[in-house]
Amino acid sequence: MNFRTFIGNEATVRQLQEAVASDRLPHAILLSGPRGAGKYSLALALAQTLNCLDLQTDHGLPDACDVCPNCVRIASALDLDARVAEAVEAREELRDADRKDTRILIQTHPDVLVLPPDPPQMLVKVGQVRSLIHNIQRAPSEGRRKIYIFPKSAFMNEAANALLKILEEPPEYAHLLLLAENPSDLLPTIRSRVSKMRLEQLSRTQMDEILAKRHPDWKPDRHALVARLAEGAIGRALSFDVEAYTASRKDALLLLQTATTEPDHSALFHVTETYRAGAEGQQKTQNLLRVLYLLLEDIMLLQARQPEMVRNIDILPPLRRLADNVSFEWIERTTRRIAEVESGMRRNLLRSLSLDALASSMQQR
Ligand SMILES: [Zn+2]
Repeated sequence: MNFRTFIGNEATVRQLQEAVASDRLPHAILLSGPRGAGKYSLALALAQTLNCLDLQTDHGLPDACDVCPNCVRIASALDLDARVAEAVEAREELRDADRKDTRILIQTHPDVLVLPPDPPQMLVKVGQVRSLIHNIQRAPSEGRRKIYIFPKSAFMNEAANALLKILEEPPEYAHLLLLAENPSDLLPTIRSRVSKMRLEQLSRTQMDEILAKRHPDWKPDRHALVARLAEGAIGRALSFDVEAYTASRKDALLLLQTATTEPDHSALFHVTETYRAGAEGQQKTQNLLRVLYLLLEDIMLLQARQPEMVRNIDILPPLRRLADNVSFEWIERTTRRIAEVESGMRRNLLRSLSLDALASSMQQR
């Protein structure tokens, strides 16, 4: 993941590369744009380029090599959801007293610090900003620049106030990257202190074209499915494991169909039975639950007469049959039950039991 493999938004990418080349990169940048436009990937590509040990050129402009130790360590922060989940899990295991003082920070390279919104409020907290203030005082140790990335710039008030001071006068070697869907998500006091850049989402047609080029063997409805599931994020679309997805979806669909038409439980347990073993089973269950959510959303869209918004576009007929068969209350209750199973899994309750319970509760209409 570097500038030359970043797809779309060429003007903004070039602008960043030129700023690096001329050593005029602003010290505080607000990178705004819709979900899926690639804000976080681009922020990491910038962090890599600023710290790459084997700097390359791309059309005469600087770009990261993506293979040196600095690049590799920075890139391992790319799967942000996974890194945050690890950090949250590590915090859960602490004693109460320590847990309160532990902030969620992602640091896969000593000179790059990612400050995600801290759950459960999903806001950046003052403790995280204090860690930044502490960290920013020390010059880079293994790279040339220190980079601080806020993947979602939603701050608690105290945190925003603490950040203002640093935004006024960051050290020469430091760059703060604030990512947000809309510039208006930020307080005016912060907005006025940052340089603004914007990314646009690729259109569905552009995504379809890119996918068709990369996967000429796929049927067109598969391109459309993946483009919709990736929500405009081309990177996600290109790395999407469509085989695993359709396998989970087959089971999820069977669960929904059996639950809504068959009075007999045994067919359901046949499906849930294959979801029992260890870590692999846990991943499989998580995938199944995620697909169930998506199918329920699509069913609701069909009920609301918005078929153009449906993501699982390649299985419209069975989705329509389900939409005719279930009530809004049933969908709501089932969604709640799925959330319960998910939280049970996080607390390591017996997976199969909760999945069986989900299956039988889905039969009560
Ligand atoms: Zn490198």
